[in-house]
Amino acid sequence: MSRNQNTQLLSILPPLKLSGLSRTIIKNIWIGIKKCGGNWKQHVQSNVVHAFKRTDMKNGGGISGPMGDTISANKSRCRKITLKIPTNSGDNINKHQAPHKTITVYIVWYPDSVPPNIDAMMSRIVAWFCFIVPFVRPDCGCSDHTDVFLLLTSHDSVMPTSGEKLVSDKLFSAYTYTCRKHNEMYVMRQSVWFKALIHESFHTFGLDFSDASFEPVKQVIRNAFPGIANNVEIRLYESYTDIWATICYTIFSVRFKPTRSNATQRRVVNAVPFITIEKELHRQCCFAVLQSAKMLKHTNSSIHSMISRSNSKKYTEELMVFSYHVLRPLYMTDLNRFIEWTARHNDTRDYLRFRVENIEAFARLLTDVLTTDWSSVWHKSGEVLKRLDVNGFLSKTACLSHPI
Ligand SMILES: [Zn+2]
Repeated sequence: MSRNQNTQLLSILPPLKLSGLSRTIIKNIWIGIKKCGGNWKQHVQSNVVHAFKRTDMKNGGGISGPMGDTISANKSRCRKITLKIPTNSGDNINKHQAPHKTITVYIVWYPDSVPPNIDAMMSRIVAWFCFIVPFVRPDCGCSDHTDVFLLLTSHDSVMPTSGEKLVSDKLFSAYTYTCRKHNEMYVMRQSVWFKALIHESFHTFGLDFSDASFEPVKQVIRNAFPGIANNVEIRLYESYTDIWATICYTIFSVRFKPTRSNATQRRVVNAVPFITIEKELHRQCCFAVLQSAKMLKHTNSSIHSMISRSNSKKYTEELMVFSYHVLRPLYMTDLNRFIEWTARHNDTRDYLRFRVENIEAFARLLTDVLTTDWSSVWHKSGEVLKRLDVNGFLSKTACLSHPI
């Protein structure tokens, strides 16, 4: 992106200045990730280099894919690593005796994948799981074991070898189940694998409220958006999940940024680099609003018409635009407010795990946002989109990767 395009993007929202309370939460995450950033191999239970060759399945080996298909061993390769991750932070406890979860990571790549750097990937994966597993919901044997399939495809949601479609909705790049005892997680695009892994972890380990019934609360949202049809799905938990996934991903990106002297060495930083994190988070928030403007233009709709009572034609959708590209970016217009809300409503020790009794308060937080000056923000994002979209490509595609 050119300097001018970057300036345009960053002009959508005022610069982010984290409040004292928000900084405390960000600092906790930073320290937690840093504590987990040691040698990933200390958590390994088994490590199979040529996983396909070792299997004795029919047709030359393979593993079961997300839609009951078999991921063929003929043209792809797979690394299989099983990890033992403590459910407490492990302080002063013998790691081998501590309560733990086991996670088996399958990294699968194809002839047209960018060859993965397994060591760099595993450093991030283990640091993430080591950080997040202590937050796991304690009451249900939640994800005692999880198989994580990282399918490093270069095409959106399509298996490169067979052309087979992996998911029915082209917006999805991953999925999992909430808190199954023996769980599975699938991540299907190489370009966004780590962000998707972080996002799915919130569902896998029961940190959001994706398995809660919250019909009355949905009515709070419907009342605020009378211009949407009744069959538009309201997945409020996706906003909670994806905003935290974005924040954690941003902190990881800053923490693991390669140094100039050695691209593979992690930077050693003692103080929390708040200014860098604020700039990156600001960029993510601006991007979320720009993406919203793009998706709304693509679907020929607007937030104004969704909150209007007088619209005769109600908003309907095939893609999940409303939950991902209306609710989420609205929360992100005031990230401090979102982080502070979390700090005040979650438990102090388990500050990333949503308390299910707070769903209505979370919906009310969104209706508060609608009383602010969001309209001028979306107007501005529409203007920026127009200026950046010189050849008209951006508004024609539903692609979720960075559009510029
Ligand atoms: Zn999700």
